[in-house]
Parts: sequence; structure tokens; C-alpha cells
Amino acid sequence: MIKKKNYKFWFCTGSQDLYGDECLRNVAEHSKIIVEKLNASGILPYEIVWKPTLITNELIRKTFNEANLDEECAGVITWMHTFSPAKSWILGLQEYKKPLLHLHTQFNEEIPYDTIDMDFMNENQSAHGDREYGHIVSRMRIERKVVVGHYTDPVVINKIASWMVTAIGIIESSHIRVMRVADNMRNVAVTEGDKVEAQIKFGWEVDTYPVNEIAESVAAVSESDINALVDEYYDKYNILLEGRDEAEFRRHVAVQAGIEIGFERFLEEKNYQAIVTHFGDLGPLKQLPGLAIQRLMEKGYGFGAEGDWKVAAMVRLMKIMTENKKDAKGTSMLEDYTYNLVKGEEGILEAHMLEICPSIADGPISIKCNPLSMGDREDPARLVFTSKEGKGIAVSLIDLGNRFRLIINDVNCKKVKKPMPKLPVATAFWTPEPDMYVGAEAWILAGGAHHTAFSYDLTAEQIGDWAAACGIEAVYIDKDTKIRDFKRDLMLGEVFYR
Ligand code: MN
Repeated sequence: MIKKKNYKFWFCTGSQDLYGDECLRNVAEHSKIIVEKLNASGILPYEIVWKPTLITNELIRKTFNEANLDEECAGVITWMHTFSPAKSWILGLQEYKKPLLHLHTQFNEEIPYDTIDMDFMNENQSAHGDREYGHIVSRMRIERKVVVGHYTDPVVINKIASWMVTAIGIIESSHIRVMRVADNMRNVAVTEGDKVEAQIKFGWEVDTYPVNEIAESVAAVSESDINALVDEYYDKYNILLEGRDEAEFRRHVAVQAGIEIGFERFLEEKNYQAIVTHFGDLGPLKQLPGLAIQRLMEKGYGFGAEGDWKVAAMVRLMKIMTENKKDAKGTSMLEDYTYNLVKGEEGILEAHMLEICPSIADGPISIKCNPLSMGDREDPARLVFTSKEGKGIAVSLIDLGNRFRLIINDVNCKKVKKPMPKLPVATAFWTPEPDMYVGAEAWILAGGAHHTAFSYDLTAEQIGDWAAACGIEAVYIDKDTKIRDFKRDLMLGEVFYR
């Protein structure tokens, strides 16, 4: 199981000593109240930590460097209560390496019409101070989020909460290690990519191990450990024998239990959080990892099929980003498989040969054993289910030869019209925004893959901001997409990202 980290965000208030000690006391008092209210809102997925008011170049620089070094700090929220001359911020900002939020708020919600005087104006001038500060951040071309509004407004707090998720993605991206126990599928283009550049841009470490080594770890799993896990499967899932011999079925399921335990031990021992497999490169493994991989994905591991390490890393990234989400609906690798093109019922049936994460399941989950036309191993056991309804995002990271592009599509997940009793795999079904035709046309023009990293629990903005922080192009396919504008966006991207 993958361990959680106790991330926090720092709240740094800017000011100066021009208006005297009493003003500075109020600034500190006000910022403490803001932090308390934000933490008490129940909306934020991570705690905010108050920091003493920043008024000098030295303290600003020191605080940002402390934030860099603090392993629990996932980002800094800045706010200028009064005027804070922005040249004071240059060195600190220059040396700061973590996500930055500029909260453009003020302590009072309403102008105090009856009592307002120049002292009040000088003490409460975020409108003024935040512009000076914003200018220097823009001039220094630092990627940051700006959130505007009163700190008690749930809309504002939700925007901070949303940014926190992006920040966790940025911080955690450089802790993703992908284990490849197979190379890319022969002749396939879109799943290939530059692993060195991925490490430079995203911090991902992508390494290969011979499949035989992980297979040895599977072979070393004891019979009693396997039996205990099979019992757990039989408790948790429906068993769909479909005419197969009960003992033979259980033996097939036991193979997957051995793979789950052996793979997880090997991944933990070597410190990897994502894995890719390939049906054509299984060494001594008796079955293509199906149920085993589905369970590992549910535990938080990233996965990519046919050697697709980019999808494996993206699935892991999106699982970490959504880890603290209340009532999460799920995140999985998926594959665009087949269409329904009946007018008014258009959509894409999403599946894979086996490996869909049960976190996206709706209703009962069953185990089936069926032959696999690919590869040359025995019939693998797999979890079969249909997926939840609702909005989600499908994401594809592609390598354009000289750079990466992230394609993000808002999709609406639905139920298919009728059950599909002969289909022995888990499925989802969605209609891309803005509709099937424009959505698929834009996806293909952008060069998006057939494999996607999918989540119900993230927004296009959150994952797009992650891409921006990594310095890569993100293109959005959503309700506003028009093909002519979209093609122009792609052309602008070609000019801007080199
Ligand atoms: Mn595939």
C-alpha cells in the first residue's frame, strides 16, 4: 500500500514598516484570523500554516528557502495586506521552487463607510499592494495561481482547495518512479516517448527490470499467502463461473493473487509507484496480470499497458492528486475501444483487455476467467464491472518529438443502453465534450492516444495547471471547443513551445 504524506501549505503575508508597529500588529492579527477561518471551513484538503509577516528582503528570502527545504510544505500562499515594495520579493521568489498561490483578498469584506479614514486606507490596501506584488511575479515569468475574492466566500475557498490538489501533483510528480517490466509494444508510436526528457520536465524516473526478476518474486509467494488473498477475493467479489469447473476457476484466480502479492512486494522493495506490463512479454508468468493489476491500481499504483509508461505515470499522478478527495469516484487507465454512433446516443466504449481500476466501478464487481486472444498464456482472471455516471476528464500525454503535449478532454460518463453479457471486461462509456464529433476530431488533430488516464475527481483546470507548472503545452477539449479555434491553439503551441 502506498503511504500518504502529511502535506501543509504556508500562508505568507506581505507588508512593510512604513505604517508603524500598531499597523503591523493588526496585519499579523488579521492574517492569523484568515488562516484560522480557512482551516475551519472544512473545504480545504490540506492544512494552512500561518507564518510571520514578511517585511524585509532578508526575511522573504529566508522564508522561501525554508519552504523549499521543508518536506511537508507543498506550496506557499502569498497575500499583501498593505503595500509591500516588490523588489523586496525578487530574490526570495527567484530561489523559491514550489507551487505559488497569490490570494488576492482583503480582511474586511465591506468598506466601513462611517469610520473609514486614511489610517484604515493605509492599513488595508491589498487592492494596491497585491498589484505591485503581482507585477513582479509576472515580470519574473513565474507560474502561479491567482485567486480573487473574500476569504470567507466558499467559491474562493474552493478555488484554493482546487489549487492545493494541483500543487500536490507538482510536488509529488518528482517522486513518481515507473517500473517497466516490458518495452513498448512493437511498432506502436503513441505510447513511445523520451524518458530522459520526462525526467527533466516531470521528475519521473522510468526504469526497466527483466520480467523474469518480477516473476521470481511472484514464484516466491507462499501458498498460504495466496490462499488468504483468494479467500479475500471470494468474500469481496461475485464469482461468475459461467460453466467452468469450480476448482479450475479457483486455481486461475490464485495465479492472479500470486501476481498481486509478488508484484507489490517487488515494487515496494525497489521503491516504484507505477508499473507497465505487455501481453507479449510475460516470461514465466502464467497469465497476463489482470485482476492483480486492477487491485494494484485500486491501491494507488499507476499502470500502463503494452509498455505505456506515460499513462502509468499519469495514472499514478492523478491518483496522488485525488488521494484526499472526499467521496472520490475513481481514477483509472482506460482505452478508447469502440463507438456507438447512433444519433443522440453517441459515445465511446472504454475498456481494456483486462486492466481497468475498480475504483471507477458502479455496483457489484465480479471475477471472470476467459481466454485472451492476445499473448500465449492461460485464461486470466479479471474483475468485471461497469462504471459510474457523471463528469470526468480523460487525459493523454504525448511526445511530439521535440516536446510533450497534454490533451485534456471533459467527458460525460453514462450507462450503456443495454447490458453486454458476453463482454468479459470492465467498461466505462462516455460522450466527449462538446459532442462526439467535435471531441473526437479535436482529439485526433491534437494527436491524442488511444490509452488515457481518466478521473472523475479532477478538473481540466487542475491537471492543466500541473502541465503549465511543468512548462509543457496543455490543450483543452471542452464545451467551448470549436475546431477552427482549436487548430489555431495548436499552431500557437507550435510557436510557443520549442
Ligand atoms: Mn492497450
